[in-house]
Amino acid sequence: MACVTYPYQAPVSQKLYDRAAAVTPGGVNSPVRAFRAVGGTPRFMVSGKGPYLTDADGREYVDLVCSWGPMILGHAHPEVTAAVQEAVARGTSFGTPGTGEVALAEEIVSRVTPAEQVRLVSSGTEATMSAIRLARGFTGRAKVVKFAGCYHGHVDALLAAAGSGVATLGLPDTPGVTGAQAGETLVLPYNDLAAVRAAFEEHPGDIACVITEASPGNMGTVPPLPGFNQGLKDLCAEHGALYVSDEVMTGFRTSRAGWYGVDGVTPDLMTFGKVMGGGFPAAAFGGRADVMARLAPAGPVYQAGTLSGNPVATAAGLAQLRLLDDAAYDTLDAVSRQLRGLATEALAKEGVPHRVQTASNMFSVFFTDSDSPVVDYEGAKAQRTEQFTAFFHAMLAEGVYLPPSAFECWFVSTALDGDAMERIARALPVAARAAAEAGAEAGGGSAAGEQDVQNG
Ligand code: PLP
Repeated sequence: MACVTYPYQAPVSQKLYDRAAAVTPGGVNSPVRAFRAVGGTPRFMVSGKGPYLTDADGREYVDLVCSWGPMILGHAHPEVTAAVQEAVARGTSFGTPGTGEVALAEEIVSRVTPAEQVRLVSSGTEATMSAIRLARGFTGRAKVVKFAGCYHGHVDALLAAAGSGVATLGLPDTPGVTGAQAGETLVLPYNDLAAVRAAFEEHPGDIACVITEASPGNMGTVPPLPGFNQGLKDLCAEHGALYVSDEVMTGFRTSRAGWYGVDGVTPDLMTFGKVMGGGFPAAAFGGRADVMARLAPAGPVYQAGTLSGNPVATAAGLAQLRLLDDAAYDTLDAVSRQLRGLATEALAKEGVPHRVQTASNMFSVFFTDSDSPVVDYEGAKAQRTEQFTAFFHAMLAEGVYLPPSAFECWFVSTALDGDAMERIARALPVAARAAAEAGAEAGGGSAAGEQDVQNG
């Protein structure tokens, strides 16, 4: 990273960052926000409107992070804002059942057929943690299969991603997670059904569930190979385990019904978050009614939350989901297609080897000369991150806010209008040139270093 220059400094953000670092570990409340992977000063945003964010230095950016997914209609959408204001005026939390949570649950259930029932929670982490507990409670088994490079929030048992090869026993990825907590987790290479089959054979009757991102976006965009999700579902059914599809990122983004609406594979349990909260802390897990019936108070598996189904969060989520009709998804697909085309054109013109990978309207750019698609975490790690870093900072200087890590998706919104797209189109050639120069400096490319895969 020594050769990276930051074309624009952000003095007010830097002062805020210094203040934050004095009172908050690393100056941020979620690690990837700290720009550690790309260096430089994280931008402290003070407002958002439509496709734009404005930072504390008064600079405006076209936003291609969208709060890591939730802001699919852009910022401060008038109808979502109105719904929130109305809800706030009626009171912000009751700790009782309420009307908004029923309506939001009905909306989710009506969109996603396999989610026969849902339980609302406040974060994606809570959703996956609770789904795993329920899967264990339902099956009476302990082991969980997850895939390297898939992020499911900071659940202890799911922070095991160590090792490659078949049926690697989970080793904790972070201090604070004990061997016992991670020891029941089997970490397998993504897109490798043979590894999953071998794990079931090696641990007969022990695997409670297989959890996977419906289409992974936390190692860059690495969609499932044809038949992979169906194969997971079939292996789970054959061995009495549950197939848990994590749609926290893809849910209500990749189609009306999320990734389920794309591949039609029916999970036993699903998790949702991000888009369904309209920018507020709302998430959910749901699935087969007979499995959900094991959840307290209907059944013995305990799960609860003081702010679960919060009336303001549910009002925001419901307003957002109701605006996400077929026309909205057509718009998302169209802007995503246009952006991918512009990025490819700019990079090709500068001779920068790369691959754009797509999952519906989610996509990311891998700086790699490989002709083969990236299908797993090992492949994702083989990209040239120094080129991404140069590209990222040039885009930032030109007023386009990309995810500050090569291992993240670019998120589009319906608010990306002609002006915003023009700004991106002007920025991309500058950024492509910066990436080309970084590639030349690095002598054609070293492999990527290890970086955070988790986001938010
Ligand atoms: N699952 C997936 C697929 C995610 O991408 C994330 C967050 O990025 C989570 C779970 C965790 O969600 P949260 O950050 O709301 O806890």
